Amino acid sequence: MSDATTTDTPVLTRGFSCLCCGSQDSTISLDLDFCDQFRCDSCNETFATDDLEAHLAAGQRLLRMAAAAKAAGLADLAKTAE
Ligand SMILES: [Zn+2]
Repeated sequence: MSDATTTDTPVLTRGFSCLCCGSQDSTISLDLDFCDQFRCDSCNETFATDDLEAHLAAGQRLLRMAAAAKAAGLADLAKTAE
């Protein structure tokens, strides 16, 4: 059924820091059995698309916090407090 070997769909990527070991140089491969698991070449650990979504959601919260602080003028407050 699966003809994954005949497609040119990319299943490997570099330059993403692994959720498990944090290595920026690792190669992350996609598990083609279910397409919902990644494996890190450096630490050989797997993480799921759900784990990645939770990780990215946490990153979004940090970005919103930074944007809210900027909008509230907290950077100016910190400067005047020096
Ligand atoms: Zn890793």
